[in-house]
Amino acid sequence: MEKMSLQDINVDNKTVLVRFDYNVPMDEEGRITDDTRLRESLPTLKYLMSKGAKIVIVSHLGRPGGKIVEKLRLDPVARELEGLLGVPIKKINSCIGPEAEAAVAALEPGQILLLENVRFYPEEEKNDREFARKLAGLAEIYVNDAFGAAHRAHASISAIAEFLPAVAGFLLEKEISIMGKALNNPERPFLAVLGGAKVADKIGVISNLLNKVDTLLIGGGMAYTFLRAQGLEVGKSIVEESKIELAAELIAKAKQNGVEFILPEDVVVAKEFKEDAEHKVVPVTAIPADWMGLDIGPKTAEKFRQKIINSSTVIWNGPMGVFEMDAFARGTQAVAEALTNVQGTTIVGGGDSAAAVEQMGMAERITHISTGGGASLEFLEGKDLPGVVALSDK
Ligand code: ADP
Ligand code: MG
Repeated sequence: MEKMSLQDINVDNKTVLVRFDYNVPMDEEGRITDDTRLRESLPTLKYLMSKGAKIVIVSHLGRPGGKIVEKLRLDPVARELEGLLGVPIKKINSCIGPEAEAAVAALEPGQILLLENVRFYPEEEKNDREFARKLAGLAEIYVNDAFGAAHRAHASISAIAEFLPAVAGFLLEKEISIMGKALNNPERPFLAVLGGAKVADKIGVISNLLNKVDTLLIGGGMAYTFLRAQGLEVGKSIVEESKIELAAELIAKAKQNGVEFILPEDVVVAKEFKEDAEHKVVPVTAIPADWMGLDIGPKTAEKFRQKIINSSTVIWNGPMGVFEMDAFARGTQAVAEALTNVQGTTIVGGGDSAAAVEQMGMAERITHISTGGGASLEFLEGKDLPGVVALSDK
């Protein structure tokens, strides 16, 4: 990446403002139910601590909509981080102003201060320059390690970089370099497997990947719109009528680009959208009119597995079926397992696919699971991320 990263700048004893994406899931009692994003921030934090930097953390949590929402304060995040790092962390109830200035002034080298949820300020989501300037005024260097929010042009992501030397943290750098290499200079064969509920969500990704990959596998709910584009009847499966023509165009584009484009040949159909619904495997040419496809079938899963394990770079986004229900999770399991048997680079992007891999205990055997659902989609679409664009050039 031609953008500066943490290693390119001297942070010794400097006051450093770090933007993380601590938008973590919490239960009713405010307990954090998945601390992945906290753990992923530790390399950057530990590095800054080892350099004696005075560390000021800024993050958002949820969608408070520019006002204070008690349940969305960052205090639980501070406590969880203290546990992970084994050091005390000071948390305050504001991001700018006298309280913040005094708390920063009181920091000793290596100490950490956590500011309040930055989305309590309406200026944040407006990418307000004046707000960004005040935030920047707290520190000497800005580090963006919030990959999950890098697709947002917000004040603590974008505008702030105007006022300070701005560098990528280790997580952001890792995300961009692994996915960037896959997109721009992949080991081949390069395969992508896409699924999930809707074509509409993934048009940009499919379209961009059709210029890059050797093979594209399509499963999940979106497969039925493509099957319809091929003139098949799909019963009560989810279909986006308005996207059928586009699906046909994407199939044509694949052909033009010499991309092997593979749709399911068999599917698991059910009578109802329910865990214990009556279900059976049918070829895609024989989906009964009052049944719905909720997973790829065993023949398709086996074909996908073969294609995947014979590839050197694999990107996966979107489950192959309604994996939340055991009866329709096999296709997703098969794809996840195939990824763990690839000799090469495997990348999982997308919130639900990442959750599926974690849930199946296969995360360790994947090269990279992106921490940013929306951000990774936009990256795979080939879009420039505002949080990356804003960083200082090398
Ligand atoms: P990701 O978050 O990984 O990008 P998506 O959000 O696009 O994935 O899609 C995930 C959702 O797609 C899951 O909730 C899953 O139940 C649903 N889904 C997958 N296959 C089907 C299907 N055949 N019919 C209906 N929903 C499906
Ligand atoms: Mg999702």
